[in-house]
Amino acid sequence: MATQDTTDILTAILARARMLDPANTRKWFSELKATRFSGGLLQISCPDEAKTRFLRDNCKMSFTRAAQQVTGHLVSVNFHIDDKKESPQIPGQIEAGVRIHPDYTFESFVVGPGNRLAQASCVAVSHSPGDTYNPLFLYGNVGLGKTHLLHAVCQEAQQESKIRSIQFLSCEEYVNRFISAIEQARISEFQSQFRTVDMLVIDDVQFLRDHEQSQEEFFHTFNALYNNRKQIILSADSAPGQIPSLEDRLISRFKWGLVARIDPPSYETRVAIVKKKAYLRGLSMPEEIAEYIAHKVQSNIRELEGALTLIHAEAIASSQAITLELARKALGDMTARAGRQTSITEIIDVVTQYYDVRLADLQSKKRHQSIAMPRQICMYLARSMTRHSLEEIGGHLGGRDHTTVLHACNKIGELENTDSQVRSQLTELTRQIQKA
Ligand code: ADP
Ligand code: MG
Repeated sequence: MATQDTTDILTAILARARMLDPANTRKWFSELKATRFSGGLLQISCPDEAKTRFLRDNCKMSFTRAAQQVTGHLVSVNFHIDDKKESPQIPGQIEAGVRIHPDYTFESFVVGPGNRLAQASCVAVSHSPGDTYNPLFLYGNVGLGKTHLLHAVCQEAQQESKIRSIQFLSCEEYVNRFISAIEQARISEFQSQFRTVDMLVIDDVQFLRDHEQSQEEFFHTFNALYNNRKQIILSADSAPGQIPSLEDRLISRFKWGLVARIDPPSYETRVAIVKKKAYLRGLSMPEEIAEYIAHKVQSNIRELEGALTLIHAEAIASSQAITLELARKALGDMTARAGRQTSITEIIDVVTQYYDVRLADLQSKKRHQSIAMPRQICMYLARSMTRHSLEEIGGHLGGRDHTTVLHACNKIGELENTDSQVRSQLTELTRQIQKA
């Protein structure tokens, strides 16, 4: 049972954690309860599974540091799901593969002209899977909300008692699992895993392009599910017909249902997104500043969030409220370089210095983690900050082929979502590159 004392301690810890790691602060932290505090261990309970996972993945360090600063003792922090919620009535089951992110719901998704069709079709499908648009194919550039919508469909469909099971995974994960099923001679197990679900959701299917055998396998899985009127939802960075080396029979099937394109957000949508994200972080954001951010950052929505984080961090560092002047200062570097292209060389320079590795090592065949990780980070940053093709990026890093680069981008992108250490390294690297 929580006492007044533990409740007060939790309140103080939350306030401190917000300062230590503003990007991982959420409004729903107000639902957290301190259930026990003894023997140097603080137990914090959380109302649902996805949120508990979010805390475990992202907040362990900031909460522990906050707890130690607040109490002046060595304290460790543990997160658990509220006992009463431990065995939900909901029959829907999302298979492992992608961790459902509590931030990515329909509620937190801002609808505008660029994504209206995609959002509406996702809502429709989550309410009557298999019946409306099958398959549903979403495509658009990076950072425009495809993954967000896929998470939202899964969370929403899970609440519907019609859905028994969902498989949700990245295409890369699908291909990897297929390859290991072949290696272990467990193909039929692999097949039944995907052909018996009520809903199959695969993110970034453009990854299939260089995997002929996986395309063949996926073709049969697609047919099995489709014939049984099971829902299939796919996302990609381009329209079905634009994905290179994709078999014609898959291209035509991907077009059987609804193909929805996501376009970059309009100015009004960007303003609304900044306000929504600020609200979800429990941050008050004056209208004129939301407008200022939306004006400065026009490309993708991940960068919009990055700008919000920079401003929030600046406000904390200078113990000031968020004003236009502060926002200008925080985004100054971003603005100063507007119109100027970042080069791969600048990225490589910053990354090699940051991780203290040599360019020759990045270009070598060495696979040790201390080299492989910076190399993959270079690829990821080059992909998101420059207009170079995967091949060109691979060329700068020891002549690696485009699948290797794509693999690195997906991997670091996934880590950016799930690993707060990687995220803060990326934020810092981006800041340094933008200053360069
Ligand atoms: P993609 O998969 O298309 O590359 P993501 O789904 O990963 O893009 O979106 C990148 C970030 O932008 C996520 O944090 C997501 O929450 C946010 N985002 C994208 N579109 C919207 C939107 N319409 N409303 C709110 N947040 C959005
Ligand atoms: Mg995505």
